[in-house]
Amino acid sequence: MIDSHCHLDDPHFSGDLKEVLLRAKQAGIQQLIIPGVQHGQWSAQQALAAQYQNISNAFGIHPWYCDQHDNAHLEQLEKLLPHAIAVGECGLDFMPNRPDHATQIKCFQKQLQLAQQFNLPLIIHSVKSADQVALQLRPYPQLRGVIHGFSGSLQQAKVFIKLGFYIGIGTRLLQNEQRNQGQRIHTFLQNLPLESLLLESDAPDGLKNQRNEPANLLDVAQSLATIRQIPLASVQKQCTLNTKELFSL
Ligand SMILES: [Zn+2]
Repeated sequence: MIDSHCHLDDPHFSGDLKEVLLRAKQAGIQQLIIPGVQHGQWSAQQALAAQYQNISNAFGIHPWYCDQHDNAHLEQLEKLLPHAIAVGECGLDFMPNRPDHATQIKCFQKQLQLAQQFNLPLIIHSVKSADQVALQLRPYPQLRGVIHGFSGSLQQAKVFIKLGFYIGIGTRLLQNEQRNQGQRIHTFLQNLPLESLLLESDAPDGLKNQRNEPANLLDVAQSLATIRQIPLASVQKQCTLNTKELFSL
């Protein structure tokens, strides 16, 4: 499997990354993708990719941090993109207490232009913003990517798939099972083509009250297999193919 979204550059992993990667390997994960979130972390990401052959980087500005970036940072980002497999994570987050919408949209638009310029896929963070994200993507019919940690409706997911995007499925699936939102998530996951799904941990985030790590991707894949009533191996194989295809791995 490939963990299509894990923040291994996060300080939560600085003490035991070797063990985390060993457990990931034991869980069947051969490759890991680190999305960038802000300029202060980009060099840490580069160091990890230099140290570990199976780590690949995306570089981008997360909507939570867009107000901490200026044109100089965007120029810095542009210089990194020839070494990236994707632009991101970028996007829009319309929860309260996030940077104002206009600033987010401007930063997102700039990164859409960069994805176009460098012919790279996008890793998109979208919370309470699916319609606006879809609107921003429409002028770029050739852009592709993933809506990571998808939290929208089935209908919104289908809009993104039509736009050429994959839907990132992560540990939210396990959480929702526990929170008895099972039926809604079952319907959601049974009605999307397996060819449109990517697996992701979003580690260290994604689990309540404990650090998440890439090895938990196996539980996500198993849950997906159970819900769709297909073998685990089919989920693993197809989602890995999807990830390789999108990121040209
Ligand atoms: Zn993330």
